[in-house]
Amino acid sequence: MQNGCICCGRCQSACPRRAISYQDDTALFLEDLSRGTAISLLVAPAVHSHFISSAKLLGYLKQAGVRSIYNVLMYADIAIWAYVEVLRQRPNSGFIASPCAAVSSFVQCHLPRLRQRLMPVLSPLQCTAIFLRKYKKTEEKLAFLSPCIAKRAEMRTVGGSVISYNVTIGRLKQYLSEQDVDLDGCRAFDFDDAAGGNGKTLGFYGGLRESVSPHIPTGRFEKISGPGVYKYLIDYMATTRRIGTLPDLVEAYNCVNPCDGGPGTGLGPATSPSRKRFDAAIPKSAENHREVLEMFRRFDRELDPADFVASY
Ligand code: SF4
Ligand code: SF4
Repeated sequence: MQNGCICCGRCQSACPRRAISYQDDTALFLEDLSRGTAISLLVAPAVHSHFISSAKLLGYLKQAGVRSIYNVLMYADIAIWAYVEVLRQRPNSGFIASPCAAVSSFVQCHLPRLRQRLMPVLSPLQCTAIFLRKYKKTEEKLAFLSPCIAKRAEMRTVGGSVISYNVTIGRLKQYLSEQDVDLDGCRAFDFDDAAGGNGKTLGFYGGLRESVSPHIPTGRFEKISGPGVYKYLIDYMATTRRIGTLPDLVEAYNCVNPCDGGPGTGLGPATSPSRKRFDAAIPKSAENHREVLEMFRRFDRELDPADFVASY
């Protein structure tokens, strides 16, 4: 980020010689794991799209020494709760959602006048890490199994550096292939927190806007993803001069298929059959909405919103 690179990954696919690579922490993670370092893994939902059996991959990682494996999608409920709180307390403020690390970096590096519009809430990943550290008292190091190369910078600049390794799906796949690892032969393993399923908001509705909007009935939302997002943000900055024209929340993503097709997956955009499967497995219902409201009331009692604030 110091040199203005936001880790969007465009140059990787643009180079005809495939000569451009990226930095992640997969090698260090595997090395530390083999040395016996206590590490738990936070897993992005994209993992289901990029491995034929994500359960067998988790089994392999467990066998390799990972202490506990957590489903980030479940803890996204905390981020949604925090978004709803901010949108209720600061109506008509015009926020840009901040879970896309490349977009947040772009705003911070290249459009600093928009920094104040970045939603001051940690990403679902960072909410997961903070919750595990502060409320579950986990002490081991944390790694993220990630589709994203931009998350590495986020881990170092937002959320207090709670996560030590950005392990990209692409590099992990490469390692497994080089080591001839047969995942079919591994025992399947579910998340350590599998009882919570995929949570009641993002994992249920499939999107941030869809999860937040039932709680902000008069809100105006927009979503943009893919290469056009940067031009959109530049135009958006021009419109901030005209008060009253901004949506309450703009969801802006670097990737066309956020985040399943992230630049750290190595294989380009995913077809994501697994993701579709588990979205469809959960019926959308009024009952879920009641459960979400009950969960938000529990968060009000048990969580300190200040723990999940992001400063940009
Ligand atoms: S990752 Fe994106 S911002 Fe960084 S050098 Fe490549 S194209 Fe430019
Ligand atoms: S949309 Fe792409 S760049 Fe943004 S957080 Fe997701 S994977 Fe990373």
